[in-house]
Amino acid sequence: MKIHLDLDSFFISAERIKNPVLRNIPAAVGGRGDPFIFDSKEQSKISLLQKGQGAFIPSVFYDSHTSFENYFIEGSKIRGIVITSSYEARRYGIKTGMSIKEALTLCPNLRVVPPNHLYYHELSSKLHRFLQERIPVVEQFSIDEFFGDLSGYIKDEKVEEFLKELQREIMERFALPISIGAARSKWTAKLATSFAKPQGVKVVREIESFIRDIPIEKFPGIGRGYLRRLRNYGIRTLGQTKEIQAIFDSWKLPGQTLYRRIWGVDGEPVESGMVRKSIGISRTIDPISDREEIRRRIIILARHLATSVAKVGFEPRYYGLSIRYEQGNRSKAHRLSHARCSEMLIKDVMLELFEECDRFPTQSIVRLSLRCANERKRKIYDLLDHQRNERMAKLTDSALKIRSKYGMDSLKWGIELYSK
Ligand SMILES: [Mg+2]
Repeated sequence: MKIHLDLDSFFISAERIKNPVLRNIPAAVGGRGDPFIFDSKEQSKISLLQKGQGAFIPSVFYDSHTSFENYFIEGSKIRGIVITSSYEARRYGIKTGMSIKEALTLCPNLRVVPPNHLYYHELSSKLHRFLQERIPVVEQFSIDEFFGDLSGYIKDEKVEEFLKELQREIMERFALPISIGAARSKWTAKLATSFAKPQGVKVVREIESFIRDIPIEKFPGIGRGYLRRLRNYGIRTLGQTKEIQAIFDSWKLPGQTLYRRIWGVDGEPVESGMVRKSIGISRTIDPISDREEIRRRIIILARHLATSVAKVGFEPRYYGLSIRYEQGNRSKAHRLSHARCSEMLIKDVMLELFEECDRFPTQSIVRLSLRCANERKRKIYDLLDHQRNERMAKLTDSALKIRSKYGMDSLKWGIELYSK
């Protein structure tokens, strides 16, 4: 069977290891948009990760955020959003993505702590190494999620026992509560995990009865587009998708893949070798309508992103940009490119993506997210632009050396300086 492991409220569990005061109380890890990176006057203290420290990291780390006041208070305002909350906090209706101000209104006793991404990352790597000792094939899926394959190693009827023991051992060694799902396929296992939370084990042996009444939106990776389309066909539960298999077929490969995943017949392997690498940077900003200023900020974010990509040392193929408007609309665009990555390339692609996805040009923008990710190993470069891209890649490497030595703001694009 294939398994999926998901740490329960990981960042909070991690903070509780260091600070026992946070145990058994409503607690949350909050995050700031760090909007001061847009301020050309402020020399931010940024420490970038060393190469080889892995994939699941926000691109920029600020130090000196030790207290709630230092990190979340700006003037008389409480800034930031909830990244993760404890189950005690969730009982008050606190959710990921909620503003900290709102969370504190719902639960005045809530303890909110600043994030410590490097520490979470280290903890995650330790757990990864431990799982590799216990399970033949392990794939890290995100900072707090893993897939594993037990076939030929643990007999199906012994899976539950094995997983409960594994769960107990993880608690004992790492003090991290974890939930585990098991099924014949990866995505069914992942779905099962959501029914095992918190700190449970759920083994699915019979797919049809398991998915019959589960609402379609619970399925991992079902986007808003598919949700809308399925609802148009009157489909509410995963079980009902069987009635419209022909419709899924008509949606070509993505639709067919989704159908196979829902019914657990995708046959997708757990891939231990593949390091899925993805790095993003997002910032929530005060509403801005001026597109020139937005472009300037995209360039700054692209610079930070490019430096992280170079530092972590991978070759992105996927470039994505998403924006959120003040009225709540969202828009996103992405591009696949096999061109050699450089800071120039990221900047140019992101600016093009912005033109493509700015669907409400009269509305103010409140959030920008940029992301780069790799694909499966395949080296195909655009031959036409090859020489230019090679040159730009070398330039990015040189820029990285300078920035590592003299700081993120030691090299900038000229346009960044025209702050309004
Ligand atoms: Mg989790």
